[in-house]
Amino acid sequence: SVTAYRIVDQEDDRWLAVIYVDPFPRETKQGGAWMDGIVSRARDEPDSRQVAVLVASMTPPVGGKDALLSHRDVETLFHEFGHILHHCLSRAALRSQAGTNVAWDFVELPSQIFENWCWEREALDLFARDHKGEAIPEDLFQAMKRARTFRAATAQMRQLGFATTDLALHTSFDPERDGDATAYARNLLQQHSPDPLPENHAMITSFSHLFSSPVGYAAGYYSYKWAEVLDADAFTRFKKEGLLDPKVGRAFRETILERGDEEDPAVLFRTFMGRDPELSALLERLGIAA
Ligand SMILES: [Zn+2]
Repeated sequence: SVTAYRIVDQEDDRWLAVIYVDPFPRETKQGGAWMDGIVSRARDEPDSRQVAVLVASMTPPVGGKDALLSHRDVETLFHEFGHILHHCLSRAALRSQAGTNVAWDFVELPSQIFENWCWEREALDLFARDHKGEAIPEDLFQAMKRARTFRAATAQMRQLGFATTDLALHTSFDPERDGDATAYARNLLQQHSPDPLPENHAMITSFSHLFSSPVGYAAGYYSYKWAEVLDADAFTRFKKEGLLDPKVGRAFRETILERGDEEDPAVLFRTFMGRDPELSALLERLGIAA
Protein backbone atom coordinates (compact mmCIF):
# COMPACT_ATOMS: atom_id res chain seq x y z
CA SER A 1 0.00 0.00 0.00
CA VAL A 2 1.16 3.52 -0.74
CA THR A 3 0.62 6.33 1.75
CA ALA A 4 0.84 10.01 0.90
CA TYR A 5 2.23 12.48 3.43
CA ARG A 6 2.25 16.24 3.40
CA ILE A 7 5.34 18.15 4.54
CA VAL A 8 4.24 21.38 6.19
CA ASP A 9 6.51 24.11 7.54
CA GLN A 10 5.87 24.37 11.26
CA GLU A 11 6.77 28.03 11.30
CA ASP A 12 4.25 29.42 8.83
CA ASP A 13 2.04 26.43 7.97
CA ARG A 14 3.29 26.50 4.39
CA TRP A 15 2.55 23.28 2.55
CA LEU A 16 5.94 22.46 1.04
CA ALA A 17 5.76 19.01 -0.45
CA VAL A 18 3.99 15.70 -0.84
CA ILE A 19 5.76 12.39 -0.46
CA TYR A 20 4.45 8.99 -1.44
CA VAL A 21 5.80 6.14 0.67
CA ASP A 22 5.65 2.61 -0.73
CA PRO A 23 7.43 0.56 1.95
CA PHE A 24 6.65 -3.14 1.47
CA PRO A 25 7.58 -5.78 -1.13
CA ARG A 26 5.27 -6.84 -3.96
CA GLU A 27 5.80 -9.64 -6.42
CA THR A 28 6.60 -7.36 -9.34
CA LYS A 29 8.62 -4.85 -7.35
CA GLN A 30 12.36 -4.43 -7.66
CA GLY A 31 14.31 -5.07 -4.44
CA GLY A 32 16.25 -2.42 -2.54
CA ALA A 33 15.24 1.07 -1.49
CA TRP A 34 15.41 4.40 -3.25
CA MET A 35 13.80 7.79 -3.58
CA ASP A 36 12.91 9.77 -6.65
CA GLY A 37 11.94 13.37 -7.12
CA ILE A 38 8.75 13.54 -9.19
CA VAL A 39 8.09 17.28 -9.24
CA SER A 40 10.77 19.88 -8.67
CA ARG A 41 9.82 23.39 -7.68
CA ALA A 42 11.95 26.46 -8.32
CA ARG A 43 12.15 29.25 -5.72
CA ASP A 44 9.90 31.66 -7.63
CA GLU A 45 7.09 29.14 -8.03
CA PRO A 46 5.41 29.52 -4.64
CA ASP A 47 2.21 27.84 -5.73
CA SER A 48 3.70 24.55 -6.81
CA ARG A 49 5.02 21.86 -4.48
CA GLN A 50 7.81 19.36 -4.50
CA VAL A 51 6.68 15.78 -4.95
CA ALA A 52 8.82 12.73 -4.19
CA VAL A 53 8.47 8.99 -3.75
CA LEU A 54 10.17 6.70 -1.27
CA VAL A 55 10.18 3.08 -2.39
CA ALA A 56 11.43 0.16 -0.31
CA SER A 57 10.94 -3.52 0.43
CA MET A 58 10.93 -3.59 4.22
CA THR A 59 9.71 -6.38 6.49
CA PRO A 60 5.93 -6.35 5.96
CA PRO A 61 3.37 -6.67 8.78
CA VAL A 62 2.12 -10.22 9.44
CA GLY A 63 -0.74 -11.70 11.47
CA GLY A 64 -2.50 -8.38 11.92
CA LYS A 65 0.40 -6.98 13.95
CA ASP A 66 2.51 -3.95 13.13
CA ALA A 67 5.65 -4.63 11.11
CA LEU A 68 8.84 -4.88 13.15
CA LEU A 69 11.67 -3.37 11.16
CA SER A 70 15.26 -4.52 11.44
CA HIS A 71 17.74 -1.90 12.54
CA ARG A 72 19.19 -1.95 9.02
CA ASP A 73 15.72 -1.24 7.60
CA VAL A 74 15.40 1.75 9.91
CA GLU A 75 18.79 3.05 8.79
CA THR A 76 17.72 2.68 5.16
CA LEU A 77 14.50 4.53 5.86
CA PHE A 78 16.36 7.39 7.54
CA HIS A 79 18.88 7.46 4.69
CA GLU A 80 16.27 7.71 1.96
CA PHE A 81 14.30 10.21 4.02
CA GLY A 82 17.39 12.43 4.03
CA HIS A 83 17.37 12.41 0.22
CA ILE A 84 13.63 13.13 0.37
CA LEU A 85 14.19 16.19 2.57
CA HIS A 86 16.99 17.39 0.29
CA HIS A 87 14.53 17.28 -2.60
CA CYS A 88 11.47 18.57 -0.77
CA LEU A 89 13.04 21.50 1.10
CA SER A 90 14.89 22.88 -1.91
CA ARG A 91 14.70 26.62 -2.46
CA ALA A 92 17.13 26.79 -5.38
CA ALA A 93 16.24 29.29 -8.08
CA LEU A 94 16.66 26.80 -10.92
CA ARG A 95 15.13 23.35 -11.03
CA SER A 96 18.32 21.99 -12.57
CA GLN A 97 20.14 23.02 -9.38
CA ALA A 98 17.42 21.96 -6.96
CA GLY A 99 17.54 19.33 -4.26
CA THR A 100 19.65 16.28 -5.00
CA ASN A 101 21.09 17.72 -8.24
CA VAL A 102 24.41 18.33 -6.52
CA ALA A 103 27.98 17.12 -6.98
CA TRP A 104 28.31 13.35 -6.71
CA ASP A 105 30.62 13.57 -3.70
CA PHE A 106 28.11 15.73 -1.79
CA VAL A 107 24.78 14.07 -2.58
CA GLU A 108 25.10 11.45 0.18
CA LEU A 109 25.72 13.94 2.98
CA PRO A 110 22.01 14.78 3.51
CA SER A 111 21.09 11.10 3.43
CA GLN A 112 23.91 9.54 5.43
CA ILE A 113 23.80 12.13 8.18
CA PHE A 114 20.32 10.93 9.14
CA GLU A 115 21.61 7.40 9.75
CA ASN A 116 23.45 8.77 12.78
CA TRP A 117 20.19 9.25 14.66
CA CYS A 118 19.58 5.49 14.41
CA TRP A 119 22.52 5.04 16.78
CA GLU A 120 21.32 7.44 19.46
CA ARG A 121 18.99 6.34 22.25
CA GLU A 122 17.46 9.79 22.48
CA ALA A 123 16.17 9.35 18.93
CA LEU A 124 15.55 5.58 18.88
CA ASP A 125 13.49 5.61 22.06
CA LEU A 126 11.02 7.97 20.42
CA PHE A 127 9.76 5.23 18.13
CA ALA A 128 11.67 1.92 18.36
CA ARG A 129 9.36 -0.47 20.20
CA ASP A 130 8.64 -4.19 20.10
CA HIS A 131 5.11 -5.63 20.09
CA LYS A 132 4.93 -5.25 23.87
CA GLY A 133 5.75 -1.58 23.53
CA GLU A 134 9.20 -1.93 25.03
CA ALA A 135 12.28 -0.02 23.94
CA ILE A 136 15.52 -1.71 22.84
CA PRO A 137 17.19 -3.27 25.93
CA GLU A 138 20.40 -1.48 26.87
CA ASP A 139 22.61 -4.60 26.67
CA LEU A 140 21.34 -5.32 23.16
CA PHE A 141 21.94 -1.71 22.15
CA GLN A 142 25.52 -1.87 23.45
CA ALA A 143 26.09 -5.15 21.57
CA MET A 144 24.80 -3.52 18.37
CA LYS A 145 27.25 -0.68 18.84
CA ARG A 146 30.13 -3.10 19.35
CA ALA A 147 29.15 -5.06 16.23
CA ARG A 148 29.06 -1.82 14.28
CA THR A 149 32.79 -1.25 14.67
CA PHE A 150 33.82 -4.90 14.35
CA ARG A 151 36.83 -5.01 11.98
CA ALA A 152 36.17 -1.39 11.07
CA ALA A 153 39.84 -0.73 10.32
CA THR A 154 39.93 -3.56 7.76
CA ALA A 155 36.77 -2.28 6.10
CA GLN A 156 38.19 1.23 6.07
CA MET A 157 41.42 0.10 4.39
CA ARG A 158 39.46 -1.92 1.85
CA GLN A 159 37.43 1.12 0.82
CA LEU A 160 40.53 3.32 0.70
CA GLY A 161 42.19 0.71 -1.53
CA PHE A 162 39.24 0.70 -3.92
CA ALA A 163 39.09 4.49 -4.06
CA THR A 164 42.85 4.86 -4.57
CA THR A 165 42.88 2.26 -7.34
CA ASP A 166 39.90 3.88 -9.04
CA LEU A 167 41.56 7.30 -9.02
CA ALA A 168 44.91 5.91 -10.18
CA LEU A 169 43.38 3.94 -13.05
CA HIS A 170 41.42 6.94 -14.27
CA THR A 171 43.98 9.66 -13.74
CA SER A 172 47.53 8.31 -13.89
CA PHE A 173 47.53 4.77 -15.32
CA ASP A 174 49.47 4.57 -18.59
CA PRO A 175 49.44 1.12 -20.25
CA GLU A 176 52.70 1.82 -22.13
CA ARG A 177 54.49 2.64 -18.92
CA ASP A 178 52.54 0.67 -16.31
CA GLY A 179 51.81 -2.49 -18.28
CA ASP A 180 49.10 -4.90 -17.20
CA ALA A 181 46.16 -3.12 -15.55
CA THR A 182 45.29 -6.10 -13.35
CA ALA A 183 48.79 -6.27 -11.90
CA TYR A 184 48.86 -2.48 -11.54
CA ALA A 185 45.61 -2.55 -9.57
CA ARG A 186 46.73 -5.53 -7.49
CA ASN A 187 49.84 -3.64 -6.45
CA LEU A 188 47.78 -0.67 -5.26
CA LEU A 189 45.28 -2.88 -3.43
CA GLN A 190 48.16 -4.78 -1.83
CA GLN A 191 49.25 -1.58 -0.11
CA HIS A 192 45.86 -1.49 1.64
CA SER A 193 45.66 -5.16 2.58
CA PRO A 194 46.95 -6.68 5.85
CA ASP A 195 47.71 -9.99 4.07
CA PRO A 196 49.59 -10.73 0.84
CA LEU A 197 47.16 -10.91 -2.09
CA PRO A 198 47.39 -14.06 -4.23
CA GLU A 199 49.31 -13.79 -7.51
CA ASN A 200 46.12 -14.32 -9.52
CA HIS A 201 44.14 -11.72 -7.55
CA ALA A 202 42.09 -9.93 -10.22
CA MET A 203 39.34 -8.19 -8.25
CA ILE A 204 39.57 -5.23 -10.60
CA THR A 205 38.06 -7.23 -13.47
CA SER A 206 34.79 -7.59 -11.56
CA PHE A 207 34.81 -4.10 -10.00
CA SER A 208 31.87 -3.04 -12.15
CA HIS A 209 31.44 0.34 -10.41
CA LEU A 210 34.41 1.70 -12.29
CA PHE A 211 33.73 0.69 -15.87
CA SER A 212 30.17 -0.53 -16.34
CA SER A 213 28.78 2.83 -17.38
CA PRO A 214 30.29 5.93 -18.96
CA VAL A 215 28.81 8.05 -16.17
CA GLY A 216 29.25 5.48 -13.39
CA TYR A 217 31.64 5.75 -10.49
CA ALA A 218 34.70 6.27 -12.69
CA ALA A 219 37.13 8.33 -10.57
CA GLY A 220 34.24 8.87 -8.17
CA TYR A 221 34.33 5.78 -5.97
CA TYR A 222 35.98 7.89 -3.26
CA SER A 223 32.69 9.73 -2.85
CA TYR A 224 31.35 6.93 -0.62
CA LYS A 225 34.09 7.48 1.93
CA TRP A 226 34.12 11.25 1.51
CA ALA A 227 30.40 11.41 2.26
CA GLU A 228 31.11 9.50 5.49
CA VAL A 229 33.72 12.08 6.45
CA LEU A 230 31.21 14.87 5.84
CA ASP A 231 28.25 13.23 7.58
CA ALA A 232 30.19 12.13 10.67
CA ASP A 233 31.72 15.58 10.98
CA ALA A 234 28.51 17.56 10.43
CA PHE A 235 26.70 15.34 12.94
CA THR A 236 29.07 16.51 15.69
CA ARG A 237 27.27 19.85 15.63
CA PHE A 238 23.99 18.08 16.44
CA LYS A 239 25.76 16.05 19.14
CA LYS A 240 27.04 19.26 20.69
CA GLU A 241 24.01 21.50 20.36
CA GLY A 242 21.24 18.92 20.68
CA LEU A 243 20.18 15.92 18.59
CA LEU A 244 16.63 17.22 18.35
CA ASP A 245 17.42 20.91 18.67
CA PRO A 246 15.26 22.90 16.24
CA LYS A 247 17.89 25.63 15.86
CA VAL A 248 20.59 23.29 14.51
CA GLY A 249 17.98 21.50 12.44
CA ARG A 250 16.97 24.77 10.86
CA ALA A 251 20.60 25.72 10.26
CA PHE A 252 21.17 22.40 8.46
CA ARG A 253 18.03 22.97 6.45
CA GLU A 254 18.92 26.52 5.45
CA THR A 255 22.64 26.08 4.77
CA ILE A 256 22.62 22.61 3.16
CA LEU A 257 19.20 21.21 2.29
CA GLU A 258 17.62 24.32 0.79
CA ARG A 259 20.60 25.34 -1.30
CA GLY A 260 20.85 22.47 -3.77
CA ASP A 261 23.66 23.11 -6.24
CA GLU A 262 23.50 26.90 -6.03
CA GLU A 263 26.79 27.11 -4.19
CA ASP A 264 30.02 25.12 -4.03
CA PRO A 265 29.51 22.20 -1.59
CA ALA A 266 32.69 23.21 0.25
CA VAL A 267 31.16 26.64 0.91
CA LEU A 268 27.86 25.11 2.06
CA PHE A 269 29.67 22.81 4.47
CA ARG A 270 31.79 25.67 5.79
CA THR A 271 28.68 27.79 6.30
CA PHE A 272 27.07 25.06 8.41
CA MET A 273 30.15 24.05 10.40
CA GLY A 274 32.09 27.32 10.43
CA ARG A 275 35.19 25.46 9.23
CA ASP A 276 36.47 22.88 6.72
CA PRO A 277 35.65 19.17 7.15
CA GLU A 278 37.74 17.24 9.68
CA LEU A 279 38.52 13.52 9.70
CA SER A 280 38.43 12.91 13.43
CA ALA A 281 34.66 12.38 13.79
CA LEU A 282 34.60 9.52 11.28
CA LEU A 283 37.61 7.80 12.85
CA GLU A 284 35.95 8.09 16.23
CA ARG A 285 32.68 6.67 14.93
CA LEU A 286 34.57 3.74 13.43
CA GLY A 287 36.27 3.15 16.77
CA ILE A 288 39.73 3.66 15.26
CA ALA A 289 40.65 7.15 16.47
CA ALA A 290 44.23 7.37 17.68
ZN1 LIG B 1 21.79 7.55 -0.84
